[in-house]
Formats: sequence, structure tokens, C-alpha cells
Amino acid sequence: MRLSRRLVEMSRALATPVLLLDRATLRRAYAAFRATLPGVDCYYAVKANPHPAVLSTFAALGAGFEVSSAVELRAVRALGVGPERIMSSNPVKTIPFLQEAVAAGVDRFAADSRAELIKLAHHAPGSRVYIRLTVDNSGSEWPLSKKYGASAADAVQLLREARAFGLRPYGLTFHVGSQCLDKASWAGALRLCHEIWGELAASGIELQMLSLGGGFPVRHTRPVPSLEEIAHETLQVVRSLFPAERLELTVEPGRALVGEAGLLVTSVIGQALRGNERWLYLDAGVFNALMETIEGFRYELRTERQGPLRRYTLAGPSCDSVDTIATDVQLPELSIGDRVYFLHAGAYTLSYASGFNGFEPPQVVICDDLARRERHEAPQATAALAGS
Ligand SMILES: *Cc1c(COP(=O)(O)O)cnc(C)c1O
Repeated sequence: MRLSRRLVEMSRALATPVLLLDRATLRRAYAAFRATLPGVDCYYAVKANPHPAVLSTFAALGAGFEVSSAVELRAVRALGVGPERIMSSNPVKTIPFLQEAVAAGVDRFAADSRAELIKLAHHAPGSRVYIRLTVDNSGSEWPLSKKYGASAADAVQLLREARAFGLRPYGLTFHVGSQCLDKASWAGALRLCHEIWGELAASGIELQMLSLGGGFPVRHTRPVPSLEEIAHETLQVVRSLFPAERLELTVEPGRALVGEAGLLVTSVIGQALRGNERWLYLDAGVFNALMETIEGFRYELRTERQGPLRRYTLAGPSCDSVDTIATDVQLPELSIGDRVYFLHAGAYTLSYASGFNGFEPPQVVICDDLARRERHEAPQATAALAGS
């Protein structure tokens, strides 16, 4: 979503922090996945942004959903999404969640350990199991590889065990790490999948599903590979290594489906000069919206001021010094009350946010509603002026 003059004007009356969400941008992002990865079934990773407007927009387009908890499951089910459009790729699930998912008819679950297979055999007997592999996450700005994933050898063993436990060996999944900047990462992971696929086929276990996971990047301050570039390289490897017939290819994007649809509007609430370090305090920070900045994640910023740039340290409103958003940020001279806009802030801002120290997550306003409100209010304003 572009920060237009009109959007600045329309958002002026809103209290900050506020996250503006644009449905048209969500629809465009989903259409881009459909167009660049034809034949690949798209499951939105709900954790990236579980706002009802996001979920309902994707549900209306026929998207699938990747859910990891009962709360995510219920949010998606409440929109009428059928169990065949839902899978759960978290390799460690709580039993109450599993029970609820099974009761709802969901039958596709990831695992990466024997303990999880035993859990599935008890609570989701006969379900389809896919194994989460550990793959190279070195191209990613938010790696996810340490916590989860089986080696190739373990994956083969686990899928054999799954069958022995009465589960259905279904496929493989991986995650190259979130905000992955190396377009070759997916292809590398696919080569590993191919080895496992072949080894299992030789022992009579035919897998069906291959998930490309998430990790597709959103443009912030640094260049990122485009979806087209990633898709081109990835699909080439898929076609060369896997039989086209009977292959269910899926993808689970989170960030890339919602990132660009969000504009975070914040206000300057304080400023200080410590030595020669200029600090700016905003009403949104690490705890209530910008959690990803703790790993050095940088957003592109806009303000409404002109003039020479100054070097600032940006911090959030809470009393904790972890609540520092970024150092060495170049911005024009700003004053208390000025707005600072964070572009492409739709992913992992709301979902990571807490109300720590009483600073609540941003209110969410849908751009269409804002435009509608403006259209309704404008004539009244004119009438009042005319009448006075
Ligand atoms: C978080 C997650 C995703 C989405 O990752 P993005 O980097 O946001 O695209 C997909 N699959 C699984 C299992 C995840 O945990």
C-alpha cells in the first residue's frame, strides 16, 4: 500500500498508534501467488496477521489456512472454511488443539519427532502426516531453523514409523526462514526433499504432498528477490526432480501475503538529547507493534516534514530499554505530535503485540471503511459550515 497524500489526510483524525489495513493490497498479494505459482495450493500462515479482515479477505478468495492453535483454528472455521482447506504445520501441537482440529475434520498435521507421531496416533488416528525438515536458513533475516525440523535420515525413519502407527505418510515441509533474501534457498531444500522422497518410494511409501513453506520476503530498506524470481528458480527444480502426476504442491506464505497491506501510523511522544545522541520516542514500540526490530529488522519510514536529515535513535513508549526500535535512523527534524509512518507493516506487528506496561497494540482500521467514513462525514461538515 502506498502512503498517498489522501491516506495521510484520512488518517489524521485517527488516534495513534493505528494499523491501516488495505483489503485491495491483500487481494493483490494473493493473486500474485496464484499467478506466479500456478497449480500450487496456497495456505495462509495465520500467525502473520490473524485480524478477521485479513482472514475473511483470503477466505473469500478460496485460500487455505495454516493454523497452529485452537484460537487460529476457530477464527478460520468461523468464516466457514472447510477442514480440507486447513492444515497444521507446527510440528509440536497441544493435545486440546489436536482434539479440536480432529473434531472439526482437519486431518493433515506436521511432525518432526517420534513423540509427536505417538501423540498423533492417539489423538488423530489415521490422519495424514508430513514431516518438517530442518533446512538451511542462512538466507533469512528471521531464522526459524533451530527450534524445529528433522534431518533427512530422521524424516525417512519417522515416515516409516508413522505408517507403523497407523498414520498416513503424506509429505514433506520445510521453512527456509522468514524474510528469506536468498532465492536459491527453496531449491536447496527441495533437493533434500527429493532424496527423502526417493528413499521412501524405494521402500514402498509414496508421498504426495510437498510444501514450499513460507519465507517469501517483503520489501523494506534493502532489495529483496521478487516472488517471480523465487518462483522461477523453485518451480524449475520441482519440475526436474518430482513427478508431475500425483504431486500436491503447496505453499504457506505469511509475511508476503500481508506485509504490504499494512501501514503503521505512530506519533512522536518525546525527544531527548543524550550526549550527541538524539532520541525520538514513539507511541508504538517493540512490545506493542514492532517486535521484529529486536533482531535488527528495519522498516522504511516516512514523515510529513522536510529539511535536512538528522540521525536518530528510535524508541517505543514503554519503560523497558529493550524497547528500542532502531539506531542510526535518518529523519528530518521532528517534534512531539508529528507522525512517523512505518511502511509494509502488515506482518507480525499485530500478532506479536502485547499490552506491556499499558501500551496497547495499535487499533486496526480498514482503508475502505476509512474512505467510506470520510465520504459520509464530508457532506455534513460542509452543511455545518454553510449553516453557520
Ligand atoms: C510462520 C510460518 C509460516 C509463514 O512464514 P513467513 O515467513 O511469514 O512466510 C509458514 N509455515 C509455518 C509452519 C510457519 O511456522
